[in-house]
Amino acid sequence: MKEPIYVTQPYLPPLEEFTEYLQKIWDDKRLTNNGPMHQKLENELCEYLGVPEIALFNNGTIALLTALQALRITGEVITTPYSFVATAHSLLWNGISPVFVDINPDTLNLDPKKIEAAITPHTSAIMPVHCYGNPCDVKAIQEIADNYNLKVIYDAAHAFGVQDEGGSVLRHGDLSAISFHATKVFNTFEGGAIVCPDAKTKQRINNLKNFGIVDEVTVVAPGINGKMSEVNAAFGLLQLQHIEHVLASRKEIAQLYGEYLSSVSGITVVPHSGQTVSNHAYYPILVGEEYPLTRDELYQKLKDNGIFGRRYFYPLISEFSMYRGMPSAAPENLPVASGVAEKILCLPIYPTLDHLAIEKISDIIANPHSF
Ligand SMILES: *Cc1c(COP(=O)(O)O)cnc(C)c1O
Repeated sequence: MKEPIYVTQPYLPPLEEFTEYLQKIWDDKRLTNNGPMHQKLENELCEYLGVPEIALFNNGTIALLTALQALRITGEVITTPYSFVATAHSLLWNGISPVFVDINPDTLNLDPKKIEAAITPHTSAIMPVHCYGNPCDVKAIQEIADNYNLKVIYDAAHAFGVQDEGGSVLRHGDLSAISFHATKVFNTFEGGAIVCPDAKTKQRINNLKNFGIVDEVTVVAPGINGKMSEVNAAFGLLQLQHIEHVLASRKEIAQLYGEYLSSVSGITVVPHSGQTVSNHAYYPILVGEEYPLTRDELYQKLKDNGIFGRRYFYPLISEFSMYRGMPSAAPENLPVASGVAEKILCLPIYPTLDHLAIEKISDIIANPHSF
């Protein structure tokens, strides 16, 4: 294949559709600070996602940082090692100690059965991740949180548009943070948001994302600059016009992969975990013992053929130097996550990935020695 194929490619609507939005911004001369595009995107996202309140951010990491500030989380927070580093980094940046708990082998999300043993008098919250957009066991996690009086903040960076039988998975927990980064299902170039249950919480979050400013002479908290610009918000409005197409294309690709790969011995497609609507944000497979190549050999074989899968999530967050020394980061404490990190490979999936490419990728996986 001539062009390299990466694990994802950002979705971009036709450029000419964006220029009318830019013209409006030029006419209004409002570039940021809760301008008309920002307000409209918040309203449209609440409606599209079916959530009560949403506060836009300049990226998902600042949204996570601010969510922790908004709930005044301190001490220790229980989280998963099987995620993108921003999950644990958001804790460290707040002076909070992450406590890593192992994942469930079926969902690859934080294992509720292992949470209680990690709770100490310093624990103030749980930060689970809906990994690959597969919902966590939200009911079991909430029960533990209620029993121990803990807050729950979901890193829902992967979960845009995902639904369970009650609606959007973003409604769970005290707060959910999402990412609109270029690599995510719904992107605003850079961007993110906090989903919250009520207007009062949103007001606090709004203060925090604008330096803690309430009015000209009042600053109520040591806030940060987390505001989304009008250009990003406008792009989000345009992306929303295309979201059904994006989700349908992803679904089709996932189905095709499923047909090709279901019969390949040693390859397991990571199953869904109870969602009624999936966003097919990733296409994760596990390379097992029976497969003729190791995971890294398959990763390299694909690379040699111009196909750049990614080993999300290897290494585990707990393996990085700033976490490695923590008692909960010990591999013996995280046997499931450690095992999965050695087997996981995410295959390319994005709306414009053509069917021939999917066939080729699947062919290489099914017959690695022919390539
Ligand atoms: C992408 C991502 C983030 C960070 O979001 P940004 O918008 O890139 O800051 C956080 N957590 C997870 C799990 C992610 O995948």
